[in-house]
Amino acid sequence: MATEVAKITKDYQRVWANCLDIIRDNIDEQNFETWFMPIKPIGIEKMTLILQLPSHMFYEWLEEHYINLLKKVIKKELGESGKLQYRVVIEKKSNGHDSQTMNLPSNPRQTISNPPINVPIEYYTSANKEIPAPFVVPGIKKHKIPSNLVESYNFDNYVEGECNRLARTAGWEIAKNPGGTSFNPFFIYSDVGLGKTHLAHAIGLQTKANFPNKTVSYINADTFCQQYLEAVKTGNRNDFILYYQSIDILIIDDIEHLGTGNKEKTQEAFFHIFNYLHLKKKQIIITSDKSPVEITGFEARLLSRFKWGLTVDLTVPDFATRIKILEKKLENNGITFPEEVINYLALRITSNTRELEGAMIAILAQASLNHKPVTVDLAKEMVDKYVKSTAKEISVEFIQKIVGEYFNVSIEKIKINKRDREIVQPRQICMYFAKKYTKLPLASIGAQCGGKDHATVLHACRTISNLYETDKKMKIYIDEIDKKMKI
Ligand code: ADP
Ligand code: MG
Repeated sequence: MATEVAKITKDYQRVWANCLDIIRDNIDEQNFETWFMPIKPIGIEKMTLILQLPSHMFYEWLEEHYINLLKKVIKKELGESGKLQYRVVIEKKSNGHDSQTMNLPSNPRQTISNPPINVPIEYYTSANKEIPAPFVVPGIKKHKIPSNLVESYNFDNYVEGECNRLARTAGWEIAKNPGGTSFNPFFIYSDVGLGKTHLAHAIGLQTKANFPNKTVSYINADTFCQQYLEAVKTGNRNDFILYYQSIDILIIDDIEHLGTGNKEKTQEAFFHIFNYLHLKKKQIIITSDKSPVEITGFEARLLSRFKWGLTVDLTVPDFATRIKILEKKLENNGITFPEEVINYLALRITSNTRELEGAMIAILAQASLNHKPVTVDLAKEMVDKYVKSTAKEISVEFIQKIVGEYFNVSIEKIKINKRDREIVQPRQICMYFAKKYTKLPLASIGAQCGGKDHATVLHACRTISNLYETDKKMKIYIDEIDKKMKI
């Protein structure tokens, strides 16, 4: 055994190379390059593989998105007792000092604890340690129910914008009076990466801050389903239900998982939990990728309950909000990016906040890895590489910026309903390109270009198309702008 350990210790590079081989087979090439190539193995100590990462944010990203994969490959390579530790290089700011390193364990997330409460069950860690399931203990005992809340997903870090104002405000009210408002259940839906999970945690955290004695529990619906199966297998279905009925604020994330693949029994259990909690004026918070009207695979009685309280959606953040989100993430990590890099990211990555954040962390990783400054060129390189779908998707704001710069007119004037002569044609050109490059309806393009209606946009597009054919100067303008649009 000792020689075995010694061999492994020497071979940390080979161990990591083997891990990388498996990882490469499991994720796409772009993500592999972005998130795994910057990692450097440093050694193995006591069956713990030590990896060096370029930044703290990189570490958090890795733990959030790839932890299960990493755990699997480490177990495969080092056996059941195999562990991971990270080392993060902290760059000292411009004072000439050397950089420092900081050791971080895998599974870093700080969670908030609940007070012990009377429940007829104990938290039982099953063979699969990642999915604890409720378990019977004879008699009532005081137990702590894990909140699973992540400290950093708080309201302070949740930037407000048009895209989330209603949801954010309602969430804040719920935290002041959980179960006591008419927002019960609170049903939040949106496309992926727009802040549902963050907001759900923020409400939970704020409730805990307002009412430390209340039991808040966050659970992903997927985990909930697995726990249910485990409980049934071990004959503890009733305790599973009792366990969830003892919670004051139940947050169930990604409820759509309950609607896929014959989960009638799990839905039924959830139905009982829901009814009980609702009756007892306990707060229920649900997130989903679809509205209760569009969601499929649910029993009608459950669906109708989803609509009892308040349903809100989160939409894509606008440019200014995207900037604020980036600035907030950077500020929290004590990092600064040049303003033009922040602008560039916010202009190019428009439809998914997670991708926006991912691109920022990837840029940072590249910069620190290769000791390069953070520049727009580096940002461009990473966005093209990293953001697959949205990289080629051009936003109206991006068009306005390019056109505004080309004609040296203010973007703001293009956006608002100004009738200045010098703005008319640039604005028409913006509409022309927006029709050509975005999938937006004409009315929405018009709204962003001086509050014009659908017919005005159509007229503008026709005018520019005609001029392109007949007016040499216009042809040059359009071709040059088009080129700039594609860099
Ligand atoms: P979803 O659950 O809708 O897929 P998440 O809540 O996981 O989205 O959000 C994706 C990432 O974007 C998270 O890192 C989150 O912190 C960040 N994010 C989303 N919206 C905001 C916001 N309004 N302010 C700050 N960060 C945000
Ligand atoms: Mg989520």
